[in-house]
This record gives sequence, C-alpha cells and structure tokens, in this order.
Amino acid sequence: MKLLCDRIRKDGQILPGNVLKVDGFVNHQIDVRLFSEMGRAFYQAYRDCGVNKILTIESSGIGIACFTAQFFDVPVVFAKKSRTSNIPDAVYAAPVHSYTHGNDYQATVATRLLGAKDRVLIIDDFLANGSALRGLCELCRQAGARVVGAGIVIEKAFQPGGRELRAEGLRIESLAVIESMDERGVTFAEESLR
Ligand code: 5GP
Repeated sequence: MKLLCDRIRKDGQILPGNVLKVDGFVNHQIDVRLFSEMGRAFYQAYRDCGVNKILTIESSGIGIACFTAQFFDVPVVFAKKSRTSNIPDAVYAAPVHSYTHGNDYQATVATRLLGAKDRVLIIDDFLANGSALRGLCELCRQAGARVVGAGIVIEKAFQPGGRELRAEGLRIESLAVIESMDERGVTFAEESLR
C-alpha cells in the first residue's frame, strides 16, 4: 500500500533492536484517514471469505481492527494481555512473547466471545517473529473457530514470522512488507509500493 509506505518513509523512526517506531500515525497518535484506507484494503482482500468476526490483540491492534470491521459490518474481539476482573470469565489462553517488551504473557479471550461458528480475520499492527499472530491463531483453535487469514499493517519480512506461518498454511496479507531497514532507511517489497 503505497500511501502507508510513503508515510513510513516520512514519519517512521528506526530504533535499535529492529524496532520501527510509528507512534505518529499508528501506535500512539492515529491517522484515521489512513486507518480507513487500511480497513478498506483488508476488506478488499478478504471480502469473499465469509468473515463474521475480527480478532486482534490489545492495544495497538484495536483501532485498525475497528476500522476494518466497519467495512465487514462484524464485531471486533480483542485478546487481553492481563486479566483484570475479580470475577473471572472462562477464557481461552495462549502464551505470547512480546517483541517490544521482551516479556511473556498470556493472551486471553472469554470463551463466550469466540466459538465454532466463527470465521475469523485476525488483524494486527506488526508481524515480526510471529508470536502474537501464533497466539491469536491458538485462541481460535481452542474455540473451534476457523481462521480465514490475517491482515497485518507492517510485516518485517527479514524476521521469520511471516515465512513460518505461511509455510504452515496461514494466509497473511500485509499492507507494507519491509525487506530490510537500517540507518539509511527502509526498503519495501515491490508489491507494497503499488
Ligand atoms: P511478533 O509477535 O510477530 O514477534 O511481534 C508482533 C508484535 O510485536 C506486534 O503486535 C507489535 O505490537 C510488536 N512489534 C513487533 N515489531 C515491532 C516494531 O518494529 N515496531 C512496533 N512499534 N511494534 C512491533
């Protein structure tokens, strides 16, 4: 998606540890027009797949998932990273390693919100080593839900998550695929620049 790649080139910051900071338009401040275009792109990719639920993980996935869900007219469920309630829900739970914080946590979804009738599109902001996406797939597996595919805003293709999960049969559509990034800037895969 050229609009997104141009914005990453203009406003993205490359941090140590292969982290791309996109706080000015994705992760802290949100560019709603860009999000709407991203939602439309995910809709175009998955419109014929019978999606009836969108699953993401808090917090940065929620905004993108909501814009996408408006096109599909389906609800969004977001997996939680911590359990807050005193009255515990029955939950599906899957371990995730946080790329940016370096810690491990359990991603959970209440069992009443995901089930065997669901055809799920998973949405997330980044794909790096694939732990978050793998965790979300695992929650769907526990629920008996069918994952039709994943929509990722920024895939860092020099990290192994996308390659490994595609090899396992998961369909992944990424709007900006980064082949490499260093102090000279970001190189995108050819198809992302259209
Ligand atoms: P993975 O689980 O695929 O290793 O990493 C994906 C998750 O880590 C995303 O949900 C995102 O929150 C975070 N993440 C991974 N790489 C980056 C990055 O370069 N920049 C930012 N801002 N977040 C990232």
